[in-house]
Amino acid sequence: MNEILAEINALKREKNAVILSHYYMPPELQVLENVGGVADFIGDSLGLSVEATRVKAENIVFCGVAFMAETAKILNPAKKVFMPDIEAGCSLASSITAKDVKELKQRHPGIPVIAYVNTYAETKAECDICCTSRNALRIAASFDSEELIFVPDIYMGQNLQQSLTAQTGKKLILWHGRCEVHEQFTQSSMSALELMYPAAEILMHWEVPLETVSASFQKTKGVLGSTNDIIKYVGQSPAHQFILASECDLGATLKGTYPDKEFITPCIKCPHMKKNTLQNTLQALRAIGTNDAMKYEIDLPADIMQRAYLPIKRMMDFV
Ligand code: SF4
Repeated sequence: MNEILAEINALKREKNAVILSHYYMPPELQVLENVGGVADFIGDSLGLSVEATRVKAENIVFCGVAFMAETAKILNPAKKVFMPDIEAGCSLASSITAKDVKELKQRHPGIPVIAYVNTYAETKAECDICCTSRNALRIAASFDSEELIFVPDIYMGQNLQQSLTAQTGKKLILWHGRCEVHEQFTQSSMSALELMYPAAEILMHWEVPLETVSASFQKTKGVLGSTNDIIKYVGQSPAHQFILASECDLGATLKGTYPDKEFITPCIKCPHMKKNTLQNTLQALRAIGTNDAMKYEIDLPADIMQRAYLPIKRMMDFV
């Protein structure tokens, strides 16, 4: 283990590369180099997008899934972006295509389209603005239009609709995509955990189904929000015990950040995120500058990069 960490860190310097790592990575990819790991930055999708614009190194190794690495490439086109496993996808991103968005726009002419950042670049290219779970509400509220199309996550859309109705009365037209991780937090599984741990507060991601959200927050305190909201909330809450209704390995980040608090983490893992390992991160780094590099490198058509940039850039104004 120590040898592989040392080789990755040596290769980062030799190949002028940095590692950006998502909070859903296996724990060994979530440790910063300055405390014995290999990552240069760890974050949620918005944090990683911001960081991608600041990277000075020539090469980015992105430990996450493809839509995130695409966003890093679009925001920083002069850099080469590599993924340890180029096949690391996402059930939400693959639930909608550019053609689907074009058809939605034909059915609802003139209605602005907000794309959750968990979409592929060619889908983003058809949309007016992107958002993450951190800024979705602010972005939706900023439009003058009384109706908005929100794609692709139906659960996040329904949760967003609840907050929007309370704040603005705007109506969302939704798509039917689902995150295969967060949809597994059912009302019955959460209420069983709430009975087992009556003193615990709930940390719930916006991608969890609305009926689970409504049932849980009727009786238990906690936060419904983005990954970043969840991390911040724990720091501000006087509670000692928390039930995490989000990707299992976020529990590693929480435990590392708040070692005195206890986290109940029903272990539902994203199979796409878990395609990233120390071993294939090492292989991607070794490949940089060789004929094998293309197996790991994000390559997008120039016109898609150009058209997807605008909705992403508009989202960045809401950081
Ligand atoms: S956790 Fe859900 S939204 Fe995130 S990459 Fe996995 S399937 Fe996609």
